[in-house]
Amino acid sequence: MPGFEIFGEEEKKEIMDVLDTGVLFRYEFNDQRNGVFKVKEFEEKFAHYCGTSYGQAVTSGTAALKVALNALGIGPGDEVITQGFTFVATWEAIFEVGAIPVFTEVDTTLNMDPVDLKKKITSKTKCIIPVHMLGAQARIKEILAIATEHGIPVLEDTAQAAGGKIEGKHLGSFGKCGTFSFDSVKTMTTGEGGMVITDDLELWRAMSEYQDHGHDHEVNPGGRGGEGRRFVGFNYRMMEIQGAIGIAQLAKLDSMIAAQQKNKAKLKDAAGQIPGVTFRHLMDEKGDSATFFAFSLLDRDHCTKVNDSLKSDSFGAINFAENSWHFYPKWEHLLEGKTITRSGYPFMESGGKRRVVYDPELLPQSAEILGKTLIYPVSINMGSELLDNMCRALEKAGSA
Ligand SMILES: *Cc1c(COP(=O)(O)O)cnc(C)c1O
Repeated sequence: MPGFEIFGEEEKKEIMDVLDTGVLFRYEFNDQRNGVFKVKEFEEKFAHYCGTSYGQAVTSGTAALKVALNALGIGPGDEVITQGFTFVATWEAIFEVGAIPVFTEVDTTLNMDPVDLKKKITSKTKCIIPVHMLGAQARIKEILAIATEHGIPVLEDTAQAAGGKIEGKHLGSFGKCGTFSFDSVKTMTTGEGGMVITDDLELWRAMSEYQDHGHDHEVNPGGRGGEGRRFVGFNYRMMEIQGAIGIAQLAKLDSMIAAQQKNKAKLKDAAGQIPGVTFRHLMDEKGDSATFFAFSLLDRDHCTKVNDSLKSDSFGAINFAENSWHFYPKWEHLLEGKTITRSGYPFMESGGKRRVVYDPELLPQSAEILGKTLIYPVSINMGSELLDNMCRALEKAGSA
């Protein structure tokens, strides 16, 4: 979670380019902007960094999911499968386009379990959204193979894993498209912001038009003409200042990840001394963006005992089974169908018929795995004193 930790002169310089022209806007003002197109430049650089052809910047990671789902044509009557361990934004976006979220178990990758995915595909499944949670890879190749067999597009929610890879290939570049978030706690930040990457020109065109009220930017790159509209759109345009920050942060991303990997390796060594400990299964340890460190104990009791010891040294770790923003059984508003609409939508149809009911006991495997797993956020500027103290607490917890 380090983007904010290393905000510095590079970001300020990029922002000043924008302030010098006075053009804060992503489109038009061509006479005044002196050739400065920060959002456009950020899109091109980010897509290129990920090894893809096109990038579409938007206002947030949640907007990126919604724009991508819209461009894929997902809507009412459709089901979209994602995992029960993710941030609420993933399924908020699915509801937002009118579709129904369906949740799978996670396995020891702490990401989508392909075995459970197979069981949850129906004739209504129109998209699969694996999430690369906590900075590390889902079993994306297996998931893609299953999806391809059924002709279903895969959208990778890469909000938490910018810069992550499998064998050198960037997360977010495996599926039909990949979405990213640059909010305050993500690996690189633009304050608020998001991105969708894809190799599909038609999909990019649809996203580009949708996020700007239907304006066609392929005909008028960087601008908007008097063209007609192919469909009803919305406004999720990124600001030039965000694009400027993104350019500077992207240039630092690889070094941020390298610093985190170093810090994480120390924690892993120390935790490795706890009897019975196992580590989260990483598809490719070198491609881990290392924003979090996850380790599992023998069972829930053992986990509580270890965490009690860590807490007594003021280094209590996160147990995501108890986290109300990231784990399905804790999403009471979803389970109870709480909504702001008077009609009860998206949980009810007009006429009062329930569209979907969520069973709190749906995901026992995820509850078992997350229940015995402890997680530390890893950052860049941890300092050797802090790390040493954490390592000592972990070693002590091993004999607790
Ligand atoms: C942060 C996050 C999002 C949403 O990003 P915002 O920019 O905050 O809207 C989506 N999915 C996951 C997994 C996230 O962690």
